[in-house]
Amino acid sequence: MSRKPIIAGNWKMNLLQDEAKALFEGIKNFTKDFTAPQLPEIVIAPVFTSLHVVNEVKCDCGCGGTKIAVAAQNCHWETSGAYTGEVSVEMLKDAGCSHVIIGHSERRQYFSETDEMINKKAKAILAGGLTPIICCGETLEQREAGVTDQHIATQIRAALKDLTEEQISKSVIAYEPIWAIGTGKTCDSVEANRVIAMIRNVVKEVSTTAAGDAIRILYGGSVKPSTIEEQMSQSDIDGALVGGASLKAESFNEIIANTMKVSV
Ligand code: PEP
Repeated sequence: MSRKPIIAGNWKMNLLQDEAKALFEGIKNFTKDFTAPQLPEIVIAPVFTSLHVVNEVKCDCGCGGTKIAVAAQNCHWETSGAYTGEVSVEMLKDAGCSHVIIGHSERRQYFSETDEMINKKAKAILAGGLTPIICCGETLEQREAGVTDQHIATQIRAALKDLTEEQISKSVIAYEPIWAIGTGKTCDSVEANRVIAMIRNVVKEVSTTAAGDAIRILYGGSVKPSTIEEQMSQSDIDGALVGGASLKAESFNEIIANTMKVSV
């Protein structure tokens, strides 16, 4: 089954508007030499306050928005109302987003996001016609205690609860071992592939074989230009969610280029 790879950059709480614009332009300049089918799907998630800036750059590049998609790093599941500080899916769509990252371990850890909230967000994102990038992953303690698979299966079952086969098929999952995020320690590719294949089986169990075969599952955790080729050579890894290395055009573009060497 061939699945189009995705390389997504999570800029987290970094970059002022001018910096975001310059970085986005650096990625756009790289992609202009390729057609959309030659490239992996590229998704960039800036902070809310830079969404309009990257969209302005995106819209004058002549690709019709096909080469670089814009994601938000969070959303609320309600459409509007008294939720101070929150942003709805419709607002994100209005701001040019096609994807939303949900369930990132930093949001689970620092903002107490639960599996139930992540499921509500996934439903709202899909109902609004956007694509959720659903993050999951284990802590070092969970890995050492041998409960990685159990923990991740629980996260995935909860996140996908009551979603249709069609909704699941177009969703994206990012497996991000927490101990590998921002630490420089990449999960061994064979092990990452094993966990991702396990996630695919959970998707098949809660939905259908077709949904499990269709859903794209990314690896995230200290992905670098030097690691991506081996990661993308694995059977079940469909791309990467990149944090630190997405903050420099040079390293992010190299990740895209190295992805194209092995897949697309
Ligand atoms: C992330 O935060 O999603 C991430 C994978 O970060 P890093 O690449 O810096 O480990």
